[in-house]
Amino acid sequence: MPDIRAPRTPSSDTAPPPGRRCPRCRVTLQHERSYTTRGLSGVVSSEHRYVCPACDAQFRWSSRDQRWREVH
Ligand SMILES: [Zn+2]
Repeated sequence: MPDIRAPRTPSSDTAPPPGRRCPRCRVTLQHERSYTTRGLSGVVSSEHRYVCPACDAQFRWSSRDQRWREVH
């Protein structure tokens, strides 16, 4: 019997959600680069760096927190 409540595994869910837009310019962010990081616990996660082509704001998405952050 398959377990439909299987937890999400970070290693298999490293892609950012598509279609992220700049909150100010409302243009689609451009992907700049991706890299992997290893946390203190040894868990490998991936980060994706995006940049807004209009205002040059930088954002990153981390597979560990599953959320976007603006890079200052
Ligand atoms: Zn922008």
